[in-house]
Amino acid sequence: MPPMRRQNMHPGARGLTVSQPPTAAIRTFPLLRFDAVSRRPTARSSASSLDAIFRPRAVAVIGASRRVGAIGRQVVANILESGFTGPVYPVNARTDVVLSMPTYPSVSKIRGPVDLAVLCVPAAEVVAVAKECGKKGVKGLVVITAGFREIGGEGVTREVELMEVARRYGMRVIGPNCMGIVNTEPAWSLDASFSATRSPVGSVAMVSQSGALGEAILADAAAAGLGVAMFASVGNRADVTAADLIEYWEHCDAVRLILLYVESLGDPAKFVEVARRVSRKKPILAVKSGRSAAGAAAAGSHTGSVAGADVAADTLFQQCGVLRLESFRDMFALAASLLHQPVPRGDRMAIVTNAGGPGILATDALDSLGLRITEFAKKTTAQLRRALPPEASVHNPVDLIASADADRYRRALRAVVRDPNVDGLVVLFVSPIMIDAVAVAEAIVEETVRQPEADRKPVLACLMGRQRGREAIELLRENGIPVFRYPEDAARNMQMLLRRRQMLDRVPGTAPRFRVRRATAARILDAAAAGWLGSEAAESVLRAYGIPFAKSRFVASAGDAVAAAHALGYPVVLKADAKGLVHKSDLRAVRVGLGDGDAVFDAATDLLRRLGRRFPGLRLQVQARAPGHREVLLGVTRDGRYGPLFAAGLGGVRVEVLRDVAFRIAPMDSEDPPEMFASLKGAALLRAFRGDPAADLPVACDALLRLQQLVFDFPQIFDVEINPFILGGGGTPSLAVDARIRIGSDEEGA
Ligand code: ADP
Ligand code: MG
Repeated sequence: MPPMRRQNMHPGARGLTVSQPPTAAIRTFPLLRFDAVSRRPTARSSASSLDAIFRPRAVAVIGASRRVGAIGRQVVANILESGFTGPVYPVNARTDVVLSMPTYPSVSKIRGPVDLAVLCVPAAEVVAVAKECGKKGVKGLVVITAGFREIGGEGVTREVELMEVARRYGMRVIGPNCMGIVNTEPAWSLDASFSATRSPVGSVAMVSQSGALGEAILADAAAAGLGVAMFASVGNRADVTAADLIEYWEHCDAVRLILLYVESLGDPAKFVEVARRVSRKKPILAVKSGRSAAGAAAAGSHTGSVAGADVAADTLFQQCGVLRLESFRDMFALAASLLHQPVPRGDRMAIVTNAGGPGILATDALDSLGLRITEFAKKTTAQLRRALPPEASVHNPVDLIASADADRYRRALRAVVRDPNVDGLVVLFVSPIMIDAVAVAEAIVEETVRQPEADRKPVLACLMGRQRGREAIELLRENGIPVFRYPEDAARNMQMLLRRRQMLDRVPGTAPRFRVRRATAARILDAAAAGWLGSEAAESVLRAYGIPFAKSRFVASAGDAVAAAHALGYPVVLKADAKGLVHKSDLRAVRVGLGDGDAVFDAATDLLRRLGRRFPGLRLQVQARAPGHREVLLGVTRDGRYGPLFAAGLGGVRVEVLRDVAFRIAPMDSEDPPEMFASLKGAALLRAFRGDPAADLPVACDALLRLQQLVFDFPQIFDVEINPFILGGGGTPSLAVDARIRIGSDEEGA
């Protein structure tokens, strides 16, 4: 456990709820939706409810201590200082008094009911104490003590024993090895943690997997002006996980937004189910560290090696609507925006600035993140022309030039905010000496926050320069306008707001069920040993699931190759095929465009001579040429934690260089594959150009969903890769020409 430190409340820990104007001259506007705190908590009666932990009638602190610096003292002090509305009972058999309160020798000696017990006793005593709590009728445990699963050996046994006791008595457990919980709802006002930060009241719920970081998160959130509704540090997650908390917070009115710091997801399936539902109602933001097992996918699989580390977790968050951020700073900034600003309706952005340089920076930043710099409606340009001096730029980005005062900002913003071609605004202000920054901030607030609620647009501000900067920033923040120092930060924030919009707009599709020849696939797969299937077998399995392949024959001699080519019709492609021959092109084992029998005979002879000795049992695959013009990759790799991970990307032999692949976790619905292709950097390459028709993506999408059905039907399949699937278009058929399937071994399956 981290060493104890006691600091005063963070000086910046003034939540937006306690917004006192810094000076009398500064007004705040009543339109705002500040962190509203519900005074009437919702009653929940579900058995799995975490009310016993967050909304207890009384709390016992077992292992309460009088020693300065001891966690058992800090927890009691925090409960007292937070103004908990119920009784707190310090329990310690060896001390009579803790913080002026008489102690109880054991929890059983407490007369009134106790819903929550916070355990700070030595690890060896935890199980016995938990049992006493169970007998006493305690319903929730927060186990702060460390020395459990995280230390291995006896720690693991101890954690198992603790959970047996908890289950026997129906107690929910947070931790062990955690920092505690906080609930600022006024009806409880409980800080049962050893955090040194007193959280301002607000509407953000936070869960931290790491205790030590939990402290930092609380402090930084406070500094960022975010008020906390509830907080939990979940430690080893022996019982309560992030998913449980998200589910609990779904129904807490005080919680409007959820922040996560996670290192790994204990039960990804549960997380997906819960997060997908809750994120539609309340934004969920996450910072995740740690790497997933995806990168460890079997050697030789493009899908696995391109996926690399962490892509599974990334994909999973994206698919269930969780906004993943790179840093806590970005997470807190986005949280503030989401609490106070609407999400944009589309990607058309306007920039209003009083300096050219920052305007260009903002333009570039927005543009590089895929947001559009909008073109104003004619009316707006005309209004701007009337309102602004002739040197100003009336087009986007609007440059009010350095002499712009509050009045000029006011008139420009009034026109731009109402423009139907504008979905969101970034307002820049570089403070010149002669201009009153606070007056400009007031103008920004009045012209933007005062939009009618129904068609409010998000407004982010960027303040550079110093003159009266602090006051201007505070005025903006207190009125719910996020303030950034650099345009890039504002642009990233806007991009995430737009992502939230896209997520809310997404209409979930269904996963179709195809008619397939399952028995055919089963006959091959059930007989197969672990490892890569032969090409012929892999192709048969995929064909059985309705994936179209170029016609081909497998032969052993050059003469037979010529006969096969005659039967298939020219031109043909000739490939060497053998166990262990993985990337054929690397060995010049693929010969395309063979136009007649002589060419086939020569190529076949060459392949047999060059590779025959190295690959015993070498065969030749004679394949009809696929007439399509665009190569894509379709794949799936089974991730140890997250299950099947699907890939779609630009294919062919250069896939590892291009690395242009999109991923999804199962289950995919019918909307996922088209979205995957649309999200590729090289998506344009699949559209019509230079006289070629657009690639037939619906066929590729269909094939990907068929792959999904295949891996659902056969859990022994660990990897499938079709590369390339050669897409036709405009009547030309689309055909797969190369595919691999890997059967997992028993250890992997465990
Ligand atoms: P590998 O991936 O093992 O190198 P492939 O069978 O994927 O071998 O072939 C490599 C490349 O050759 C493909 O990306 C494609 O461009 C071309 N190719 C292979 N088979 C055909 C075919 N039947 N029709 C047209 N092009 C083909
Ligand atoms: Mg290939």
